[in-house]
Amino acid sequence: MYRKVKGTQDFFGIEAKKLRHLEGIIRAVIEKFGYEEIITPIFENTEVFVRSSGEESDIVSKEMYTFDDKGGRSLTLRPEGTAPVVRAFLENKLYARRALNKYYYFGPMFRYERPQAGRYREFNQFGIEAFGASSPYLDADVIISAAEIFKALGIENIKLKINTIGDFASRAAYSALLKEHFGKGISSLCDDCARRLDRNPLRILDCKIDRDNPLLKNAPKIEAVLSAEAKAYFQKVLKILDASGISYEVDPNLVRGLDYYTDTVFEFILESDDELGGLAVCAGGKYSDLVRSFNGPDIPGIGYAFGIERIIAIMDKQNLFPDLASRADIVLISLDEEAKEKALLLARALRGAGFYAELDYQNFNLKPQFRLSEQVDAKFLVIIGEEELKNKQLAVKNALTKEQELIPETKILEYFKENLN
Ligand code: AMP
Repeated sequence: MYRKVKGTQDFFGIEAKKLRHLEGIIRAVIEKFGYEEIITPIFENTEVFVRSSGEESDIVSKEMYTFDDKGGRSLTLRPEGTAPVVRAFLENKLYARRALNKYYYFGPMFRYERPQAGRYREFNQFGIEAFGASSPYLDADVIISAAEIFKALGIENIKLKINTIGDFASRAAYSALLKEHFGKGISSLCDDCARRLDRNPLRILDCKIDRDNPLLKNAPKIEAVLSAEAKAYFQKVLKILDASGISYEVDPNLVRGLDYYTDTVFEFILESDDELGGLAVCAGGKYSDLVRSFNGPDIPGIGYAFGIERIIAIMDKQNLFPDLASRADIVLISLDEEAKEKALLLARALRGAGFYAELDYQNFNLKPQFRLSEQVDAKFLVIIGEEELKNKQLAVKNALTKEQELIPETKILEYFKENLN
């Protein structure tokens, strides 16, 4: 027996419907904010991710599914959505379409991580990227759009954590400060953090291993070196969130794992006592330098990504999915060859009229055909036998009331239009 790859999932039945259901809700919200869908390939040249995330990032150093194709190119299954969108934005010169470009995406991402609750090796993300404005109004509107999505999905107990990591000057000053601070206690840090000290000491702040090390808790805060502009920018973002009635907590240790972030960074976390509590459901931030680092023009961007599996798990827990089971309107039951042909043609006509019609393709006995009607939870059964064919009539049975009546063939569409809605 073949088994699925560790950390992957099959979606079928109601689970597949849940995924599409919440996709539909999210799409409806985000398109009102002016975002258009962008669909990029599942794999990219490896360099796309190395350039954007940085060699030192967990994603690049440990988590990528990278392979050489038969032409000897190094390709990587996308671990995240921002780098491919930036690559597409530049390659297709989308910045020439207009000054402000807003895109959203849905799709699978791949990371070699240790599978556990809410963590998979193939998982789905919904994300957005907005290019072309460096403005606290845009940052706030992006965060508001995420909050609106939670609201539309009905999800409660979500907490927004927000921070600024400053503009380039503040970031550089902060890095120097952290280097000095962590340098003093380097032996108490994990090997990864020891390596991060030189390259990007900010990353140490969100190390999963050293999370409880007092050195992290007592680290200097960005506040100490934040430029006046960066401070004013952040205050403005917070002011707009206040005015929008969106509550948040400023978390000075929130830095995000990737090099390209500047200014506003944020995460939405679930607050609950179960195994899902504390999981980040959506994470994002502003990136002023990512487009330029791809050798593109100097265009700022901001974005976020939602973990779809985590949303499904939360919605299951909070009982937020409607009844997604689909019931057949009509099952056509046929008792001989000729009737079967009639049933198939009639099914086609019924489907054409907008009904969900099903039939058994190989049995002429009643029993298996009744079983099928039960399995698809049919509302009506249409029984076609010798008698019915001869009289050009159909026996229609209401599955609920069990009442049965004979309807002339020519009146059958009309009958269902009246009796099914
Ligand atoms: P990131 O791209 O790491 O900022 O992740 C954005 C969101 O994607 C997270 O907040 C999670 O909801 C989700 N996510 C990230 N990694 C995984 C994973 N391995 N399995 C499931 N969801 C994930």
